[in-house]
Amino acid sequence: MSEKKSHLIVAYYHLSTIEDPRQEVKLQKKFFADSSATSRIYVSEGGINCQMSAIESEAIAYMEWMRQRPNFEKLQFKVDAYHENVFPRLAIKYRRQLVAFDAHVDLTVRGEHLAPDKWKEMLEKNEGHLLLDIRNDYEWEVGRFDGAERPPCQTSRGFIQFAEDLKKRVDPKKTPVMMYCTGGIRCELFSALLKKDGFEKVYQLDGGIINYGQQQGNDHWLGKLYVFDDRMTVPIGDEQAPVVGTCHHCGVPNENYLNCANTDCNELFLCCQECTDKFVGCCQTICTQSKRLRPYQQQSPHKPFRKLQRP
Ligand SMILES: [Zn+2]
Ligand SMILES: [Zn+2]
Repeated sequence: MSEKKSHLIVAYYHLSTIEDPRQEVKLQKKFFADSSATSRIYVSEGGINCQMSAIESEAIAYMEWMRQRPNFEKLQFKVDAYHENVFPRLAIKYRRQLVAFDAHVDLTVRGEHLAPDKWKEMLEKNEGHLLLDIRNDYEWEVGRFDGAERPPCQTSRGFIQFAEDLKKRVDPKKTPVMMYCTGGIRCELFSALLKKDGFEKVYQLDGGIINYGQQQGNDHWLGKLYVFDDRMTVPIGDEQAPVVGTCHHCGVPNENYLNCANTDCNELFLCCQECTDKFVGCCQTICTQSKRLRPYQQQSPHKPFRKLQRP
């Protein structure tokens, strides 16, 4: 059963100075004034991070509009077809930071971008590289590159400490460090941080996992990709990848995310169908006794309740 893919999901980021971000927010809002698009578009002094979905013709019009504007000619769009909109509403906002990141880095000195085929080649050469997944724990738990490790990167401070410790483990001048994230924006910042810290061979996956999946499928990838929209998790290629996620309660292989049915908890966790029934959609026994319990059947098909963190 395949539903008609009438919509496009579009993602891009642009990291260079926006003179007047609030004016840019207005412009974007104006463009979408009569549209049924949904989005999560953030604008700061340092750039734009956009994820949006719309019916195909509107999504194409948006990409064309952006590309013909000065400074945006080179935008690279990641595009996926889908049968409906995937964001709860049209959100276009000013943000002080596009990625939670408090270190000052020189963005002209970042890691080298590797296209998916080069990335795959480098993985296969296996010349003592280090493979870093710089996403959140709940993204990692359901899917990742085989052989990757996940440094603490909720904050730039945690990552700086990790980089310091890493220097005792590997030679920062010689060891190739490969890093990846969902769409590439986090790598722009964290790779610059590694460079600043003395690592010389830093590589980042161009266009992130989304781009890799579209070009190379599941090769070297395990599980699914966590996405910040109603789909929650998606396969990155056409073939089935080995499941790496496990049910939070019983440990069986599982890729189904739930938000705890206790609205005061709302914890995001992987849960098999059996445990979903047994714990009435909750993450722990104590949550099942809450007065503010959502009927968990409403979670099927589950859509995210969490106020999503920034990618
Ligand atoms: Zn279970
Ligand atoms: Zn809970």
